Amino acid sequence: MSKHIFNFSAGPAMMPPEVLEQAAAELSDVRGSGMSVMEISHRSDLFGDILAEAESGIRRLMNLPSNYRVLFLQGGATLQFSMVPMNLLAPVDTADYIVTGYWGKKAAKCAVAFGDVKTVYSSEDTGFTTVPEQGEIRVSPNAAYLHYTSNETIDGVEFPYDLDAGLVPVVCDMSSDVLSRSIDIEKYGLIYAGAQKNLGPSGLVLVVIREDLLDRSPRALPDLLTYKVLADNDSMANTPNTWAIYLLGLVCRWLEAKGGPAGIEQVNAEKARVLYEAIDKSDGFYAGRAERNARSRMNVTFALPNAELDAKFVEEAEANGMSGLKGHRAVGGIRASIYNAFPLAGVEHLVDLMSDFARRNG
Ligand SMILES: *Cc1c(COP(=O)(O)O)cnc(C)c1O
Repeated sequence: MSKHIFNFSAGPAMMPPEVLEQAAAELSDVRGSGMSVMEISHRSDLFGDILAEAESGIRRLMNLPSNYRVLFLQGGATLQFSMVPMNLLAPVDTADYIVTGYWGKKAAKCAVAFGDVKTVYSSEDTGFTTVPEQGEIRVSPNAAYLHYTSNETIDGVEFPYDLDAGLVPVVCDMSSDVLSRSIDIEKYGLIYAGAQKNLGPSGLVLVVIREDLLDRSPRALPDLLTYKVLADNDSMANTPNTWAIYLLGLVCRWLEAKGGPAGIEQVNAEKARVLYEAIDKSDGFYAGRAERNARSRMNVTFALPNAELDAKFVEEAEANGMSGLKGHRAVGGIRASIYNAFPLAGVEHLVDLMSDFARRNG
């Protein structure tokens, strides 16, 4: 038997064990074809079915109206930082950005090359520990779009609501909290999410785009950077990441069996509650990074009294079967990533070590 590890990695992150088992069982013979999903043509009927199932899984889980398109692309969420403004922002126009962490800041910086970028809210001065309330956002009336990051994976802050920008299309980087809770899809014009946190393996990015935004492109772009071309070709303008799309389809089926976003949301809330409670009850030994109203349910960030203790804690966690807890180099401390696939038992294991460690080192 392989040793059991609770994997707190921020991404690529833990996959549902049932999905890994199924993928292993049919690795060399997918659906009785006698071939691996990695070996079949992306133009084959069999892969057509696999792609259609992945798309319908996303459609059901996100409750997508018929005027939204689902794209499975490459280049990660990072390429979307550029593709969004390339396709939606004319040189003479303005796009609004809300910057609540490391990734949103990067996204805003990438957009500057394509038009006027206005940062309508930034929490950088206070160390990216909070998110604005809806009423604090002043959207530019003529903005091409408003971009925000629903969950900042590194800083550990998350919007507890769906942002509303009225008639201005909302573009959201949901890489690290997509399908972790129910959302009001009609508030969004475009959602993108790198797959490797909540959807599957790396090398795949999900883009959900409202149809009217496909015709916006203000400039001539290469085909593979043009949403319209990618949509017209059903994500197959070139060979897609067939393996990752197959796994994403399995993850969707797994999530549906868990009650979809609404079902998993309750489990996620409980995991986060247990972990934040351990932080709050530690008499300050563990200091949570995010302000309470902005606490992420996916990436719980905290620090011990000093960097030596952070390192010692990570080391003891490793020795106790818990990996991936070291905070991102940009913020230090500890980060426990507890995406959909991460079990409550792993959180309880971590909390046990936290109380024991505090007793011995406090
Ligand atoms: C991980 C992450 C990214 C970067 O994703 P890549 O797929 O590596 O490009 C961007 N935004 C957020 C919120 C992330 O969590």
